This record gives sequence, C-alpha cells and structure tokens, in this order.
Amino acid sequence: MTDSPSARVLATLHGYPRQGPDRELKKAVEGYWSGRLDQDELLRTAAALRAGARRELRAAGIDEIPTGDFSLYDHVLDTAWAVGAVPPRHRNAGLGELDTYFAMARGTADVQPLEMTKWFDTNYHYLVPELDQDTAFAADPRKQVAEFEEARADGFERARPVLLGPVSFLLLAKPAPHAAPGFQPLTLLDRLLPVYASLLAELRAAGAEWVQLDEPVLVQDQPGAVLGATARAYRELCAVDDRPRLLVASYFDALGEALPVLADSPVEGLALDFTGPAAANLDALAAIGGLPGRRLVAGVVDGRNVWAADLERALSTLATLLGLAGRVDAAPSCSLLHVPLDAAAERESDPQIARWLSFARQKTAEVSVLARALAEGRDAVAPQLSAARAALASRAGSALARDTAVRERCAALGESETRRPQPYEERAAAQRARLGLPLLPTTTIGSFPQTAELRAARAGLRSGRIAEGAYRERIEREIREVIAYQEKAGLDVLVHGEPERNDMVQFFAERLNGFLATRHGWVQSYGTRYVRPPILAGDVSRPAPMTLEWTGYAQSLTERPVKGMLTGPVTMLAWSFVRDDQPLADTARQVALALRDEIADLEAAGTAVVQVDEPALRELLPLRRAARPAYLEWATEAFRLATSGVRADTQVHTHMCYAEFGEILSAIEALDADVISLEAARSRMAIADELAAAGYPREVGPGVYDIHSPRVPSAEEITGLLRRALRAVPPERLWANPDCGLKTRTPEEVRAALENLTAAAREVRASV
Ligand code: GLN
Ligand code: ZN
Repeated sequence: MTDSPSARVLATLHGYPRQGPDRELKKAVEGYWSGRLDQDELLRTAAALRAGARRELRAAGIDEIPTGDFSLYDHVLDTAWAVGAVPPRHRNAGLGELDTYFAMARGTADVQPLEMTKWFDTNYHYLVPELDQDTAFAADPRKQVAEFEEARADGFERARPVLLGPVSFLLLAKPAPHAAPGFQPLTLLDRLLPVYASLLAELRAAGAEWVQLDEPVLVQDQPGAVLGATARAYRELCAVDDRPRLLVASYFDALGEALPVLADSPVEGLALDFTGPAAANLDALAAIGGLPGRRLVAGVVDGRNVWAADLERALSTLATLLGLAGRVDAAPSCSLLHVPLDAAAERESDPQIARWLSFARQKTAEVSVLARALAEGRDAVAPQLSAARAALASRAGSALARDTAVRERCAALGESETRRPQPYEERAAAQRARLGLPLLPTTTIGSFPQTAELRAARAGLRSGRIAEGAYRERIEREIREVIAYQEKAGLDVLVHGEPERNDMVQFFAERLNGFLATRHGWVQSYGTRYVRPPILAGDVSRPAPMTLEWTGYAQSLTERPVKGMLTGPVTMLAWSFVRDDQPLADTARQVALALRDEIADLEAAGTAVVQVDEPALRELLPLRRAARPAYLEWATEAFRLATSGVRADTQVHTHMCYAEFGEILSAIEALDADVISLEAARSRMAIADELAAAGYPREVGPGVYDIHSPRVPSAEEITGLLRRALRAVPPERLWANPDCGLKTRTPEEVRAALENLTAAAREVRASV
C-alpha cells in the first residue's frame, strides 16, 4: 500500500448483533435459565456465536473489529459489572457469578432486578445501573480482556475493545433505592475514573492498541457541569501511563457543544455519526478546524435503519472528512445491534424489495466497499457501486414508494382537516347527551388477556393448521365472553378485547399498503426478547377497513358503547423501521389519513367512542431540545388529522402508558382528544396534579390499576386513588380505568381487579 492519505482508510464498526443467525443466543440463555443447559454449554454457545460473527466480519472485509460488544443480556449491565457496580442485594444473594449477573437482569424470587429503560430514542432497553454514595467501584476486566484475547487468538490483528464511557455510565445510572436524598451519580466520577484507568491498563497489557469508549449522552443537551466532567474525565484517563489510544464515540445525533470539549481533550480519536440529524457534525467539525493528526471514525452508513446506503453520498462525505482529520475510517453510525442480521434472508419473500434493504451483514459490506473505494480507488469496487445505485433507483422508482393518489390527497390537505370544528365544551355536551354515562365512567384500555389458546389459534391460522372459519369462531367466542364479562362487571364503556391482534402495530401494518413484514428481521428489544418491526417502505393507504368487523360484532352484542380501537400514527412510526427518503412528518400524515378513513367508517357503522393509542408519542422526541417543538407540531397534527373528522357527539379517546409528561404536557393538550387515559397507579396519581396545574381542560382517566403487576388492587385502594385524583380533577371530568391494556394479565386477576374497579367507582360516585 502507498502512503497516500486515502490509503489509511479502514472499515470498522461499533458493534454487531449478538443473537446469532437463528437467535441461538436467546435459546441458549433461556435454556440456561430453565436448567436445560449448564453454564459451560451456555458459555460455549456464546463463544461460538462470537467466533461466527468474527468470521462474518472478516469475510465482509472489516479491517478492525470491535470486541466486548457481545453480551449475554445487555452491554450497560456488562459495564456495571466491569466497574463493580453490583448492588448489595444482588451481590449478597448467595448466587454464583453468572446467576448474580442474571439476578441483576431479571431478579429472583427474593430480589428485584435493576430497572430497565429505553436506550436513547431506539427500541433497545438497557438495565439502569444503581449507584449511591457507598458504591465502591472495582475493576473486573475479565470479560473485556477475554473477548479481546479471543479475537487476537483468532488471528485478528486489529481488534478494538468497546466499552460504555464513564460519563455516560454515570448519567445513565440512577440513585439506588436507599441513596442519600439528592444523591447524583455524576458525583462518583472521581471514584470511577481510576477503575476505568485500570480497565484500560489491563486491555493495553493484553495488547489492545485502541479502546473505544462510548459517550452517547453527549449528543443530548448537557449542562456545563457535564461538559466539564467530560473534559476532566478524558484529561485524567489520558494521563494514565501505558494506556491504549482512546477513541471516544458518539451516535444518534450531533455532538454539538460537546464536540469542542472532546476535540480539546487529549484523546487520540473520535467516532462521530454523520447520518440523519447528526449530519450537522460535518459543518461543526469543519468549524473547529477538524481533528488534525487524529483519528476520525466516520459513521456514514445509517446503523439503525434498514435501507441500502447511498454509497455515492457516503463517499463524498468521507472525501470531505479526509481533509479534516489525520486519519479517517468508514463505519456505520452506531452499533448494528439495532438492525436485523441479514436482508438476504428476506429474498424468498420478494427479491426486488430485498435489494433495497441493508441489515447488519449488508451494512458491514457497505462500509468495506467505502473503505476500499477510498483506499484503492472507485474502480476497485465499481460493480458494488453500480449495484448500490441500481438498488436506490429501483426503490425510488417503485410503485410502492409513490402512490399518486396518496400524494395528491396529502398535498390537498388544509388546516380545516386537522381541527375539530366544534370547541371542546360543545362536543362534551353533545357526547354527554349521546352516551348518557354516569360520573366517573369506567372503561378499560383495550386488550383483554391473550390466552395461550388464542395465540395458538393465531399461529395455527398462519401455518394452515386451523381453517379461517374455525379461527373466526374462536375470535367471536372470545369477544362474546369479553362483552358479557364487562356487562356483568358493570363497566360503562366496553372494548372488544383485541383478541385478533398479535401486536398493536403489526396488526395495522399487515393491513395497510406501504408496510412490509420481514420473516427473519429480529432485533433485540431487551435481554432475550426480540421483536420483528414492520418496515414502512412506501406510501401508506388503506385497501379495506381494518377493525370494522370485530368492533361491529362486539357492538352488536351490547347496548353499551364499544370503543373502536386504533394505533396512532406516531406509534405506528416509532415501532417500525421508517423510510428515509421523505420527512417523518409526511409519512405520519399518510398513516393519519388511513386512520381517518377507518374512523369515518367506524362512525358510520354506529361507533360512538374511538380510542387512538399513542403510547410512543414521547419516545420519538428528538434527543436535542431544539428539534422538539417541530416534532411535537407534526406529531400532534398527525393525531388530529386522524381524529378530527368525526361528529361532535363522537368521543375521541387517546391513551399513553407513562406518567412523566414533562415537556410534552402542552402537546397532550394539542392532541385535542376528548378523553385521555394514562399510567398513574405507579406514580401515585402525581399526574392528576400535574395535569390540573397545567390547566388541562378535558377528561382524564389516570390509571388506578397497575397492570404491570400480578397484584390485584382492592376496592378500597382504588377508591383511595380515585379520591386522590378528585383533589385535582373535577368529578365530571374523571374516568376510572386501568393503566394500560390487560393482555399480559391472567383472566382471574383481571376479573377480580375490574370488579374492584367498578365497585370503587360506584362508591366514589355516590359520595360526590
Ligand atoms: N389498546 C392497547 C391495549 O390495550 C394499548 C396498548 C398500549 O398502550 N401499549 O393493549
Ligand atoms: Zn398503555
């Protein structure tokens, strides 16, 4: 190789799916939990999966591979373990190491697990480290060192251990249950840095030339104290003798004010995301004069979406970057953990569409093509570049991507389609007259327990073991039972129970044009749980009504109103892979129009109450505050576009499964729903006060039954919660309902809880 600057471009990545080609890791871990596999068998399977992944990366032409990104459960949990942040309740549970690790992940009969929460704005969930003023960190480098040595033994000269960095580790942690009041994890930085220094020294001793420390928290708005802590952390880690070179990585958005902080630190390299909103990194980097003499790992292939990359555009970004750093390497924007393994596995469904897709295996090939194009010249990869151009052209030109009727309809939309014509007070009066509900009306959120029998029937229908007619009878029977039960329990607004739905997004994705299903597109959601998100690939339209039949059937069985039940546009987007060739707002509008038609059909068929669930409204909130108002604007507009076509006396409900509204409170109001149900049981009704304080003017159902727990609340407890809510919400605007759908609970728990709910509502009604 020559010594021209371009000859230095390598292909690398931040992390690879852990699951194995056929989700072997899930099977092995669950096998270990159930006692079918012993520890050695589990660890052997895990090692074989890592070896397999390394072979794939080598074959794909990846020059420098990540190590330590593999995990039996979660990489944040692994970091907690590596720095000795094992809470006393797990440490002292009397378990072996591996079982202590899994106790942190999922608890045992005696100890609670760590809490789990979403990893930034992805659908991956990490375990939240628990820290307090007594946390004594201690380095445990064994996993990192072993996985690095394993790669070296396998002949990988260039392997780069990847760990979560100290600032992100502390900011993603939370105070342990008995931490001193006001305790802030970041105050432990001085105690934590020597532990990181020792991990780095061990990795260096094992031969690591580079170590990557991930600091994704730096793509969020951080106060000066955090930026100061970052500067200090990297100054101190760089002062350690005999350490590897440090590559500090960020992804999911631009570094913003953290960029100069890291650029001024002595670290030898940065990994930056240059896709989506993070493309702003490019100008910012130029503005600070680049990273002369240092390494830049350039995330130019979107690591969290599923589309074949625009290699020409990536090449031109890389070409610009080559002038801005001492050395530039090509990489996906983030760990490939967030995409499925292999788009080639989808060929059997549709070879044309499979070409448009790029999952982990294809993305590694893409970065390797980019690195070669820069190192050896475009001619060396001409066939790959032309295949990529052809794939892009095929996607752009396909009838799936552009449906003229949908586009014309969207273009013709005006302001009036996104507003209900009548003010809320007028609607509320019309709805009161039509529905005749008592004070504190009782309802549920939609789903009833999904029994194993029901799931088996659905699987049977798919595999052809059960005939369509028999399946339909099964669903009808279920709906009859659910309606009869709700009447008997005395609920006021009924649901059909959603027995026909596998998942609230997938059900609609399967019925809308524009969405594709994958056969093998599994992505880790948390631990051993994998999901197969639909791919929103084209213009969205509704070929036929989606919910009319079962909602109508349910309504035919009762005099009481049955809610029509739909998933909102934002949630449809949040839990799918979305197209990257138009703004999200446009995609949301198309989904909203399909829902609007569905709601019009429901209304015409006599439905008086529709519920449009938006549990993901807060999830899609951009990581940077500056981008949030624009997001909330289109997100709430899409909801109103879906729901505002109804008559004044048709009641629109929405539902969200969380209670921390913070900055989306005004967005909740902008939805203009007549009734909102939300999570509140776990937060002891604080939400009712918050809504009241914010002057929320419409009806609310703060949840009074925590459906995440098998515990059945007593009527007294529910009465107490309702009385508590009445301190903030007047009785004519309060509903009584559970926190969320009942599908994960048992029929027995649900029966008991709902009877208590209606009894409590009756009692409170009598006293107001
Ligand atoms: N209607 C859905 C259900 O009850 C809502 C689920 C959700 O909010 N995640 O299952
Ligand atoms: Zn919910």
